[in-house]
Amino acid sequence: MEKEKIILTGDRPTGKLHIGHYIGSLKRRVQLQNSGEFDKIFIMIADAQALTDNFDNPEKVRQNIIEVALDYLSVGLDPAKSNLFIQSQISELTELTFFYMNLVTVSRLQRNPTVKSEIQMRNFEASIPVGFFNYPISQAADITAFKATTVPVGEDQLPMIEQTKEIVHSFNRIYGETLVVPEALIPQNGAQGRLPGVDGKAKMSKSLGNCIYLSDSADAVKDAIMKKMYTDPLHIKVADPGHVEGNMVFTYLEAFSNQQQLEAYLPGYASLDEVKEHYKRGGLGDVNLKKFLINVLEDELAPIRARRAEYEKDIPGVYDILKKGTEAAHEAASKTLSEVKAAMKINYFDDAELIKAQAEKYQRTE
Ligand code: ATP
Ligand code: MG
Repeated sequence: MEKEKIILTGDRPTGKLHIGHYIGSLKRRVQLQNSGEFDKIFIMIADAQALTDNFDNPEKVRQNIIEVALDYLSVGLDPAKSNLFIQSQISELTELTFFYMNLVTVSRLQRNPTVKSEIQMRNFEASIPVGFFNYPISQAADITAFKATTVPVGEDQLPMIEQTKEIVHSFNRIYGETLVVPEALIPQNGAQGRLPGVDGKAKMSKSLGNCIYLSDSADAVKDAIMKKMYTDPLHIKVADPGHVEGNMVFTYLEAFSNQQQLEAYLPGYASLDEVKEHYKRGGLGDVNLKKFLINVLEDELAPIRARRAEYEKDIPGVYDILKKGTEAAHEAASKTLSEVKAAMKINYFDDAELIKAQAEKYQRTE
């Protein structure tokens, strides 16, 4: 039998999802979902992981479950094709984490570049909660529990997938071929893999408050672009030569716009490169460019907003979708856990051979 193709990915319910999540991961997920190439798709709301650095704010995590679920449905994740589920409700994931902890050293976790930078971001340097430190291992449990072959994520997640692969290799070497080696799927376009914030900071992130949210109104998007977006502080008059590097309008256009949109919204240029050349020479104003970007984002966001409004009318129905997805995820994870326990030789009561052999041993010594 050909190996099944399975997707696992997810997001932390620490806030509403933003256009960085969309371009970095959500958009691709929906394309993969609709490609029909995958046998199973699991999309996880990682509340247990969110609690590792929000353990003192459980209400925040609880409130954001529904926000993330609405964002999922609004971008076109379809419960008929994808299982949307809640991490904490699947205790098998915690058990797997516990067993994988034996396969990873403290120094290996300390070397993980994503963990390093996130520890810094959260001022955890002096004292790191064990749960937070451990989250790459818990992420390996999430991925392997579903035998995921494909993990569509943003670029910041690459070290996590690396860590997972190492755990899979160690496990299979020690206990026998059980777990599946996953592959990360990250956007080819650099700006899409790590979209910076509207303030120009390295990453658009819920925690940094520099986001355009998928659920923002058209006015809020317009305001963020017109009033908050970092452009080129040296480009004061339209005639001044401008800088493209580090100019968020260009970064976002690179991440989101296509040729048809260029022709429709900023006619007269053959390519985005030509627009850049004009800007560098001087004579192209920020407002024109920002209007172009607003149109580009609205093309993407208007249908998402409309679908969200529909789902918002039936919130109990959304919880029901999560419940059904969680049941399906539970079934898959529990099958893997049984295999893991058998491989680790801790399936005592299912192992008639073991009981028979022990009985014989004691009969002989009598
Ligand atoms: P937090 O600040 O709580 O960590 P976050 O904004 O980093 O939140 P996550 O839930 O950690 O969001 O990430 C979910 C997914 O979105 C991951 O696959 C991640 O790689 C991707 N992602 C997050 N931020 C960006 C971004 N700015 N650009 C591209 N992809 C992103
Ligand atoms: Mg993150």
